[in-house]
Amino acid sequence: MNTLKDEANRCLLCKNPRCKAKCPIGTPIPEVIQLFKEDKLVKAGEMLFMNNPLSVVCALVCPHENQCKGNCVRGIKGQPIEFYEIENYISSKFLESSEIKPVEANKERIAVVGAGPAGITIAFALASKGYKITMFESKEKIGGVLRYGIPDFRLPKVILDKIHHRLIQMGVKIRPNTRIGPVITIDKLFEDGYKAIFIGTGVWNPKTLNIKGETLGHVHYAIDYLKAPGVYDLGKKVVVIGAGNVAMDAARTAKRSGVETVTIMYRKGFEDMTATKVEIEEAKEDGIQFELYKSPIEIRDDGVKYIQTQKVLNEEGKAETVFVEGTENFYFCDSVIIAVSQAPRNNIVANNKGFETNKHGLLLTDEVGHTTRQGVFSAGDVVTGAKTVVEAVKHAKAVAEAIDEYCSSLREQQ
Ligand code: FAD
Repeated sequence: MNTLKDEANRCLLCKNPRCKAKCPIGTPIPEVIQLFKEDKLVKAGEMLFMNNPLSVVCALVCPHENQCKGNCVRGIKGQPIEFYEIENYISSKFLESSEIKPVEANKERIAVVGAGPAGITIAFALASKGYKITMFESKEKIGGVLRYGIPDFRLPKVILDKIHHRLIQMGVKIRPNTRIGPVITIDKLFEDGYKAIFIGTGVWNPKTLNIKGETLGHVHYAIDYLKAPGVYDLGKKVVVIGAGNVAMDAARTAKRSGVETVTIMYRKGFEDMTATKVEIEEAKEDGIQFELYKSPIEIRDDGVKYIQTQKVLNEEGKAETVFVEGTENFYFCDSVIIAVSQAPRNNIVANNKGFETNKHGLLLTDEVGHTTRQGVFSAGDVVTGAKTVVEAVKHAKAVAEAIDEYCSSLREQQ
């Protein structure tokens, strides 16, 4: 606590805070720090929660080096303020101790499909305005990627149980193990009186490498592996292909589960990785090895055949990664985990009329989330493709406003 107070006291409380400007959700950082300094923890917690119901999660998993921390003026000449540590303290306390008074649910019935960051944000926002919310989640518990992707050592799952409790306190009804699309259709939801439907189903189909050997028994997709790492028998030596945050999480989870050697194979260099510097450093600290400038061309029973790559400037002067002819080689391993991004599943689009998608299968919406089907809204990864928690929350907040406006206009028409 003392060190957090010291950290708060170092904040310059800038008039035009760059940390706030570069936070995707505009967290009122100086205001919260001021309240913290005055020991007004409940007020600070409320301020954070009202702005971002997943503040407690974002404090742990946001890419801070590109956002608040990376833009703190203190960081120009010295150490930037680590606001997220303060945020984590305040928001954890708020989640644990403060009681939420449910608002009387006297407005329309709304269906929220998917209980990831986008769905949770919509549920909080609309339940607090008096809507009757039912969340449908295909998995056993709420959280989406927060529960079935990001490992516990980065985001303790007990936080999600507390968020679940809060939703229930606010009167949100949760239907777990219920996939919307094939059996419960969108039409059925409208027939049962839901006036608006929100789709926040994320991206759960792994993208493939499109090389020979991807269906072999020792090959797994990271997004599947991370759902339940305990059920996999990976052997002693594992190669993870890819270098984003999903790859880092899969590699670190495998290592922490007892695999002796875990290597990330990537076709470019450290500077090109989409994982943050912190994630890469933490992976190194966990003992993850790196094979850079290597591109897999075939997976075999005993390992991965690859070719060396290099960066060259193309005719337009842009850097490009190309194969270096004649440099094929082989990396022996027991298992291969592929982590080269995700795409949406099409349970809803394939089984229900009226939805348009782009060429990647992402739902088409306008900027405030109206899909091509009236009364159905969407936000989060299923619209934007794989992004971040804070972006899903920001997007969903705007869509919650649009749903409220839509329902108000239905009321006026009656
Ligand atoms: P999701 O979190 O995917 O939630 C969608 C929910 O919908 C799921 O619970 C799913 O089960 C449910 N669902 C799907 N289809 C149906 C259906 N038909 N009916 C009912 N329910 C359905 N972001 C960060 O900011 N920081 C990180 O450190 C970070 N690490 C990540 C690590 C991994 C391994 C992965 C995969 C992603 C990571 N991300 C991270 C990205 C971030 O988690 C996502 O951008 C965010 O979760 C998207 O939220 P969402 O609500 O759109 O989707």
